Amino acid sequence: IIGVPIGGYVKVSASGQCCLIDDEGKECNIPEGEKASLKLMHPTSVEGVDDMIRLGDLSEAGLLRNLLVRHKQGSIYTYIGSVLVAMNPYQMLPIYTAEQVDLYHGRKLGELPPHIFAIADSCYYNMRRNKRNQCCIISGESGAGKTESTKLILQFLAAVSGQHSWIEQQIIQANPVLEAFGNAKTIRNDNSSRFGKYVEVFFNKEGDIEGAHMEQYLLEKSRVCHQAPQERNYHIFYCMLSGMQSDHKKTLSLGDASQFKYLTEGDCLTCDGRDDNDEFGRIHSALKILTFSDRDCWEIFKLLATILHMGNIDFQSTIMNNMDSCDVMSSNNFSLLLALYPQLIFLKSLTHRSFMTNREIVMKPLSSEQATDTRDAFAKAMYGRLFVWIFTKINSAIHKPQTDEPNYTRKSTGLLDIFGFENFPQNSFEQLCINYANEHLQQFFVGHIFKLEQDEYSKEEISWKRIAFSDNQKTLDLLAVKPLNILALIDEESTFPKGTDATMLNKMNKEHNGNKLYMSSKSNHGMQFGVKHFAGTVYYDCEGFLEKNRDSLSVDIMELVQKSSNKLLKQIFEKETNKNSISTLSGQFRQSLDSLMKALSLCQPFFIRCFKPNDKKMPMVFNRELCMQQLRYSGMLETIKIRKSGYPIRHTFKDFLQRYRVLLKTPAANCCAAICRAMIKDEEDWKIGKTKVFLRDHHDSFLELEREQE
Ligand code: ATP
Ligand code: MG
Repeated sequence: IIGVPIGGYVKVSASGQCCLIDDEGKECNIPEGEKASLKLMHPTSVEGVDDMIRLGDLSEAGLLRNLLVRHKQGSIYTYIGSVLVAMNPYQMLPIYTAEQVDLYHGRKLGELPPHIFAIADSCYYNMRRNKRNQCCIISGESGAGKTESTKLILQFLAAVSGQHSWIEQQIIQANPVLEAFGNAKTIRNDNSSRFGKYVEVFFNKEGDIEGAHMEQYLLEKSRVCHQAPQERNYHIFYCMLSGMQSDHKKTLSLGDASQFKYLTEGDCLTCDGRDDNDEFGRIHSALKILTFSDRDCWEIFKLLATILHMGNIDFQSTIMNNMDSCDVMSSNNFSLLLALYPQLIFLKSLTHRSFMTNREIVMKPLSSEQATDTRDAFAKAMYGRLFVWIFTKINSAIHKPQTDEPNYTRKSTGLLDIFGFENFPQNSFEQLCINYANEHLQQFFVGHIFKLEQDEYSKEEISWKRIAFSDNQKTLDLLAVKPLNILALIDEESTFPKGTDATMLNKMNKEHNGNKLYMSSKSNHGMQFGVKHFAGTVYYDCEGFLEKNRDSLSVDIMELVQKSSNKLLKQIFEKETNKNSISTLSGQFRQSLDSLMKALSLCQPFFIRCFKPNDKKMPMVFNRELCMQQLRYSGMLETIKIRKSGYPIRHTFKDFLQRYRVLLKTPAANCCAAICRAMIKDEEDWKIGKTKVFLRDHHDSFLELEREQE
């Protein structure tokens, strides 16, 4: 009763003792004092409804129970208007077959039970009929099913456009490659996407797939060097080590995963249900389909091997001229690395850093910790840039110029698979970026729901006063709009060579102290600040903010890259030298988010909210607390708030009459007479008795026919 509400039945014994049998089958006696917190369930809540807008009890508790009831029935999809809630079943369901595609194709939303194919079909239909770009915004926490949902929509679109063309194949085959390089096993999800993506699929006039474009957001680079317990590095490393031909492995001095520091930190080398060896074959053929040559693949593997070998370099502390310094321990097998870089420069750029003093450059030795950091920064940069390079190359393979006549602009459906709101015990710069993105998406969502609501009133020609509701603009102002907003301050401090995380926090505290949405550090020495987000307050730990945001490598490492004999390595670092774009990470993220929001605002949107029923990856287990939290984070409550501030309950005339006719105090006889008078011409053909209506024979079927036509 306390905390998360639950549904149930009350049994009252002869003695008046109340016993509650709740939705989880637990029986408990209700103490006298608690009886007041029992609320009678609205009739629509008892069996559950497939569109939650129809729930009489439009509250958190009502939504939660509806999801629970449906989960029990095995219905994973539920609508809330045109928003789809998708509950991860954690089991294979036979609902994604070609027959199901056919069934849902060409049907109206709501005509059949809720399904992700129904949303996909609405996108396709609207795109063609309204000649307007569509988008699906798929959100939810890690493991909720965003990536699977994205693939299902893509599968549906490819099936209904029905060409089995080369380009369709290429678009579909981009997934295994992106997942190999951008997904990893985490404690939350065995195949967790560590980047966000927006895929735009283009269609010609006939509705055939004609090309696609993908954007990526914020790959988690730290995973390349560190993994939490029971987590792995990116799949591709393990796939390569388990699937690569042995002579190739020998050339790259590769053994198995246990030999590499970068792969063993999480103490987890394999992943249940994944065969890294098989997967390697699939990745390799997908790469080929995406026009990567054998040479390209080899170059990619060479860089991956370089990263692994670099991780195994150890540094030994020494003291030189009274300064901490270090040497590379020579016992390592880094012949491969040495083949890539001139030996002396390589060793020196890891163990030294140059500084400008009085117009002359001096090399200062690094301590072994600093050298380790330099090494890791290089490995992360290499992987991050390799990922972007692969992404760009895939884009050039799936990019196709439009074939239709020049005055027709082709239409697209975009699929956004992006990290949901995050609030962990420890939150850092990445969470700030992710939550900032979610504030934007939330604003977009609320704006859309609000518009739908107003549209419905206009359609029914109802006069209404403007509904007032609070949006999250103030949080966005604080984060990125107002002068000296949080992101601007982080960026500003990142450009000061002497700026530190502490000086940055100081400035933020000073600037935003009075703001109700901003929380200064909990203590004087604290390194945190809090932001009140739409889904709750998150405290961010400032440590490492500036370094993460600067996202830069030492001059020495950059020089090393230029002197390397490896073409791909040089190529992926090319942009760094002709720097004309934004250099900080948050700056780049803001820019790509701005253009995403602009693109989305031109589309007709659909929202898919993925839910995770439990955190054990188990079928048929529904954790109410976890789901309640997701209801809050998903912004679904805003939908309710908006509806509640208007006229949330709607009945068709027919339903209304059926249900509430009894409340009309007019005698039943008078009502019957009114019906007869309206329907039957001759007054002699019907009679009203004391308890019954009397009709001539032929009028019975006449009335029935009329009723059916209503
Ligand atoms: P992350 O944010 O970590 O990337 P995600 O939301 O993308 O998480 P998915 O990778 O799509 O989550 O789903 C996690 C797992 O849940 C899948 O690997 C699969 O086992 C299962 N799953 C998700 N959706 C479905 C579905 N519709 N049918 C069957 N299983 C599913
Ligand atoms: Mg994913």
